[in-house]
Amino acid sequence: MSKEIGNNFRPGAVATDLPLAHDRPVDFGLQDFCEKCGICAEFCPSGALPKGENQQVMVRGVRRWQMDPEKCYMYWCTIGHGCGICQAVCPWNHKNNLFHSLVRETAERFPYLRSLLVKGEELTYSHKPGPEPRWMTDDIF
Ligand code: SF4
Ligand code: SF4
Repeated sequence: MSKEIGNNFRPGAVATDLPLAHDRPVDFGLQDFCEKCGICAEFCPSGALPKGENQQVMVRGVRRWQMDPEKCYMYWCTIGHGCGICQAVCPWNHKNNLFHSLVRETAERFPYLRSLLVKGEELTYSHKPGPEPRWMTDDIF
């Protein structure tokens, strides 16, 4: 996730033996923002995304919300194509214009306003969940 372009990108990697200096992790308040948000988990049609502070687990030394790739993939197979609702509803993936840049700056600099920003996101964009696929409700797993 990046402050400027959210999570709607494909990361690439280059293998090299060049001696490179390590940079430091970037903290723009995302962990706290996600704790207050949870919109992606709310609208994930397969239930693959956990929500809430007590749903975090340690993965390779990092505390995180671990998604369930099988549930996600099963949903993709059911609908016959990729999903991406979690990316479509994430507030950090809005178009990079002046207004959204200001909101991102506010979210980073003023932690006490993050809950309000999430509420504004819900009111402004009125995210609607899609219909539940049959395999989720037929208890076949
Ligand atoms: S792609 Fe769809 S099913 Fe998979 S985690 Fe995102 S919202 Fe859930
Ligand atoms: S929708 Fe985006 S900001 Fe909200 S919890 Fe999910 S990843 Fe975090």
